[in-house]
Amino acid sequence: MAWIDDLVNLMPTDATPHEPTQQAWQHPTTNEQERFNLRVSKCGESECWEWTGAVDYMTGYGKLRWRNGTSSAHRVAWMIRHGQIADGLYVCHKCDNKRCVNTSHMFLGTHADNMADMVAKGINQPRQPFCRAGHDMAIHAIPHSSGTGRRCGKCLRQRQLESYHRLKQRA
Ligand SMILES: [Zn+2]
Ligand SMILES: [Zn+2]
Repeated sequence: MAWIDDLVNLMPTDATPHEPTQQAWQHPTTNEQERFNLRVSKCGESECWEWTGAVDYMTGYGKLRWRNGTSSAHRVAWMIRHGQIADGLYVCHKCDNKRCVNTSHMFLGTHADNMADMVAKGINQPRQPFCRAGHDMAIHAIPHSSGTGRRCGKCLRQRQLESYHRLKQRA
């Protein structure tokens, strides 16, 4: 059956589809490091080094064009100093200054670490356990009408009831 042999010969020898090639880790080159350093206002070793380049208005982090896309300035700072950042890890700030690129102010953490750290520092407002009238906010809290923060729903209902009865008495 010669035609089958021909067909087999025509088939690609490597039948498995090519996996999309994962970009191999490459340490920031001297050129890339120089380009980065141009936008850093370096101060003392213990102080914050402010990123003077672009800032991502959504996240507040410094950003820069990096290889085929963009990257956060503090992540690039970390890569220059310490090398590759393992998948799924975050570069977190000890100093709470999102534009700071001083790696001695940073630590590697998971998403949970990052969130726990923000809560610990009160970046997510610490929640008051009771309202001014002493109602348990874990039960009565409702979102504030301004869209930020929360208020006591029990107090609100009481005020609404009082004004209702005042109006009723007048009627
Ligand atoms: Zn800092
Ligand atoms: Zn209340």
